[in-house]
Amino acid sequence: MDTARDKSTSYTYGPVPSRRLGLSLGVDIVPPKICTLDCVYCQVGRTTRKSAVREDFLDIEAVLAELGERLQTGLKADFITIGGSGEPTLHRRLGDLIDGVRRLTDIRVAVLTNGTLLFRSDVRADCAKADVVIPTLDAAEATVFEAVHRPTAGISIEKVVSGLEQFRREFQGEIWLEVFLVAGVNTEAGQIEQLKDLIRRIRPDKVHLNTAVRPAAEPDVRAVPAETLDAIARQIGENCEVIGAPPAAGQERPERRAESDILSVLRRRPCSVEDIVTGLAMDRDEVREHLTHLEDLGTIASERRGDTMYFRVR
Ligand code: SF4
Repeated sequence: MDTARDKSTSYTYGPVPSRRLGLSLGVDIVPPKICTLDCVYCQVGRTTRKSAVREDFLDIEAVLAELGERLQTGLKADFITIGGSGEPTLHRRLGDLIDGVRRLTDIRVAVLTNGTLLFRSDVRADCAKADVVIPTLDAAEATVFEAVHRPTAGISIEKVVSGLEQFRREFQGEIWLEVFLVAGVNTEAGQIEQLKDLIRRIRPDKVHLNTAVRPAAEPDVRAVPAETLDAIARQIGENCEVIGAPPAAGQERPERRAESDILSVLRRRPCSVEDIVTGLAMDRDEVREHLTHLEDLGTIASERRGDTMYFRVR
């Protein structure tokens, strides 16, 4: 168990602007980067330890203590989002964590998961404690599933779909299914039709189309153009939407934040200047100053995707 984290590797990060969740205060309960999958589009980078074994990766009480301290500063968030640098359902005490969050706050809880362990009843019971569960389904065929996700042994598309169907039958909250599309890999019309059939069986409340806007684990992963995403959204149906832009800046700055806060966010995912300005409620010039300093130190690197420059920890 990792109980020796210091402030620079804290368990919570943000709030960061999320295209789905508004202002999202992230809680990270699995160290980078342990996951059941090794997705080609992963923003955290390649998986260093593939596993499907649930463990006590870190001390849940320490996570809750830190979260309690953060909440006491008066920060505002629309969601507390459990996810981060690996697959959160791999933590054996995910359910205890959600119970603990409920005791601290009435902010809604979301779980970001790849859905690969929902075939297990203990994982379904833990996830069912959340308000919103956001699983992923990007493929309808085994070959595409293997190519996109490079899963650990024992994880198959059949198991993922049947776990999602079972979870839908049991879960009273909302399921927002994410479909992550990679140009030239899983966008062909026949594949989308097959996906649509699976989505009908799973009956999510919403379907969100996402693509590789940010830098990915593999350099050749390309984003799907906006017009193709719109066409696929129409093909899938009325509860399907392309994920929109982050919310506009406007949150009052609750406390002075410094480079360590920026680094804490960038450790989890690459961000643009706007992401940091909005998420941390910081002044734009101040963010630019910190980013330049961190780049000069060699701590972070920048990478252009389309019209946007993203920053990530080296
Ligand atoms: S995108 Fe999610 S599921 Fe895929 S490798 Fe990264 S953390 Fe794991």
